[in-house]
Amino acid sequence: MARTFFVGGNFKLNGSKTSIKEIVDRLNTASIPENVEVVICPPATYLDYTVSLVQKKQVSVGAQNTYVKASGAYTGENSVEQLKDVGAKWVILGHSERREYFKEDDKFVAEKTKFALDNGLGVILCIGETLEEKKAGVTLDVVKRQLDAVIAEVKDWTNVVIAYEPIWAIGSGLAATPEDAQEIHASIRKYLASKLGDKVAEETRILYGGSANGKNAVTFKDKADVDGFLVGGASLKPEFVDIINSRN
Ligand code: PGA
Repeated sequence: MARTFFVGGNFKLNGSKTSIKEIVDRLNTASIPENVEVVICPPATYLDYTVSLVQKKQVSVGAQNTYVKASGAYTGENSVEQLKDVGAKWVILGHSERREYFKEDDKFVAEKTKFALDNGLGVILCIGETLEEKKAGVTLDVVKRQLDAVIAEVKDWTNVVIAYEPIWAIGSGLAATPEDAQEIHASIRKYLASKLGDKVAEETRILYGGSANGKNAVTFKDKADVDGFLVGGASLKPEFVDIINSRN
């Protein structure tokens, strides 16, 4: 089964009504392939607004975080039900910025992943190593540990997309080489096969994230295990369309 090319845009804590309208207008008027799945993830404040602007069927909207409770006394959180209520279809979980700045550990990420999936959101699950871990040669140990926590909780991976995002590549302008990304992605897929079976491994999309841009995206084109990108900085710019078109 061919895996549908997937491009996520992680706006992080950026944007205003004006700038988000510009981004969505650009997507609405761009020529983009039929066989691509694009998920733009604005700050939660703008989810409703973003959903109201999107006109292309290939484009849906996702959140950048959620919580493990449906509702209640959890000041500052956003629930899965509320995200769905305003039209979000996806949520990014386990992003390295959440892990680092907000002290989210593997177990919490796994619990949120299970809760989001059980309640009908797709999950873009981020994993990846620090520069120190890369230098120490423990990249695979780190991503396996991050995956193990989720594997322990989640049996149905149909609505999970994995984003391999080496932390040293995020926002640094130094993307992993296509060859290096392919090697890690292939290892991740092999690991999924060993833990969850060949079907899950074959069907689960594995995105690359970390300084992906309009120029380098095309260089990943022939990498069999790179099924798309999770894009930060460049998702705010016109070149996001080039990334979306990089497989054509
Ligand atoms: P970047 O961010 O594309 O700006 O490196 C990617 C991400 O953090 O998802």
